Amino acid sequence: MSPVLPRSKSVTDPIDALLSAHGLRRTVAARRVLGWLLAHPDTSYTHAQLQVALAGEGDAADGSALDRVTLYRLIDRLTQVGLLLCRVDASRVRRYQAMPSSVHAMPHFECQSCHRDSPLESALQASADDLDRAAQSALEALKALGYQGMSLDFAVRGVCADCATGAATAAAKG
Ligand SMILES: [Zn+2]
Repeated sequence: MSPVLPRSKSVTDPIDALLSAHGLRRTVAARRVLGWLLAHPDTSYTHAQLQVALAGEGDAADGSALDRVTLYRLIDRLTQVGLLLCRVDASRVRRYQAMPSSVHAMPHFECQSCHRDSPLESALQASADDLDRAAQSALEALKALGYQGMSLDFAVRGVCADCATGAATAAAKG
């Protein structure tokens, strides 16, 4: 058995944590958009629908309505980093929803030599969309069959680049 390192859990707001983890600024607007979509995980929205939904929701809280351009940019950004799932519907309109949490379970690499567990997000950047799509369709297929409460963990096991080149081994011996 390889040792399991405890994963530190942040005590901050989960939405803030998600934004930070994906390199986004924790603006009021970003919190509202992501917060709304996470609160309605099974609904997909067009830009227009989202704008209407947020306009009704945010006014009392901070008095600022999200303008269209800001909203569009935010949605693009959130989609780029994989927090939102974008689909084109039958009428060729883009619809957005929160990326199911089970899908963007971070791919990670477990080294069988040094037992380090490292995130693969950047290493797999180029295929991140394909992985998300594959995971998404697998989960949807299972959901259709009646499976529930699924989560998905994408772990790759092997020997990391450091160990493979002997650097980590040499350091451990020295
Ligand atoms: Zn290693």
